[in-house]
Amino acid sequence: MPIDLSQAPIILTGDRTTGPLHIGHYVGSLRSRVTLQDTHRQFLLLADLQALTDNAHDPEKVRRNVLAVALDYLAVGIDPAKTTICVQSALPALAELTTLYLNFVSVARLERNPTIKDEIRARGFGRDIPAGFLCYPVSQAADITAFRASIVPVGEDQAPLIEQTNEIVRRINNQTGRALLVEAEAVIPRIGRLPGIDGKAKMSKSQGNAIPLSATPDDIRQAVHRMYTDPNHVRASDPGTVEGNVVFTYLDAFDTDETAVAELKAQYRRGGLGDVAVKRRLDSILQELLAPIRERRAAYARDPGYVLDLLRAGTAKAKAVTQATLDEVRSGLGLFSLDGG
Ligand code: ATP
Ligand code: MG
Repeated sequence: MPIDLSQAPIILTGDRTTGPLHIGHYVGSLRSRVTLQDTHRQFLLLADLQALTDNAHDPEKVRRNVLAVALDYLAVGIDPAKTTICVQSALPALAELTTLYLNFVSVARLERNPTIKDEIRARGFGRDIPAGFLCYPVSQAADITAFRASIVPVGEDQAPLIEQTNEIVRRINNQTGRALLVEAEAVIPRIGRLPGIDGKAKMSKSQGNAIPLSATPDDIRQAVHRMYTDPNHVRASDPGTVEGNVVFTYLDAFDTDETAVAELKAQYRRGGLGDVAVKRRLDSILQELLAPIRERRAAYARDPGYVLDLLRAGTAKAKAVTQATLDEVRSGLGLFSLDGG
């Protein structure tokens, strides 16, 4: 008998539709989502409006990647019978909630957000920050609260955004005089931030330093080959550094044989273990992880009509949920109503 989840806690997460998902998403978020869908009511948001906040010059990319990200979800094992997948731009209640919440946060607070600061730097905006980009944490607060989510499984970079959401929740609740909105908790896995193959702090779709879940065997091999290691470890016999060495960080994230990894690290530190040998091990682990994901993805990609139907059904369900929250917030804040002033 299926377990009754009608009272289970609600989860909302999502991804910007800026490109196919990568193995950073897998360790940072997708892996937990697949597990949590068995015990929670889970919604996944294809965040195309958020993607537009730094891609207004390329809406075609944002549009195209809605389906690409949906395929990635299905490929890693998100089960549409357990998880509702929906499209942000088709949920007008989210935009309306964003407009209301914008009055409960200051520009100074938005500018102080450490994640936004990092992202502004990485994107080289200087002072030309799109207003939508600066305000995307508010739209994210709308997303999380509209679904009444109490749990948000995310990578480490998202923690300040959840904090920002909860500040807005408290202000709205304070204004309305009751616990109208739910505070959310970020669930961050052991490895909450996978670095890029170039050694940069975060693997990211927008930085060209990612291994996509849909990578071919050859792409994987080449990415591992190019991977940043210890620049001072020239000969295999030299002692090497494990900290900040991406190949070892990835082994920590993906190799299930912890004893073997500890032994390799010790050998690398002592000297006598070449980069090529460690990379060969990582390559075979990633090939094994990604082969079934790639195959499932290709199978779903052959049936885009099926995927579109899933998105239609999921978005219809999400529309009802988010509209109900908007109605409550509107009346909680005492907005004018044509039904009675
Ligand atoms: P973009 O560069 O367009 O911002 P992204 O790769 O940062 O894309 P997002 O869609 O912004 O991906 O992030 C979606 C989710 O994946 C978030 O919960 C984020 O924390 C997580 N995530 C993204 N990159 C990583 C990473 N390298 N390691 C761990 N988690 C990650
Ligand atoms: Mg991001």
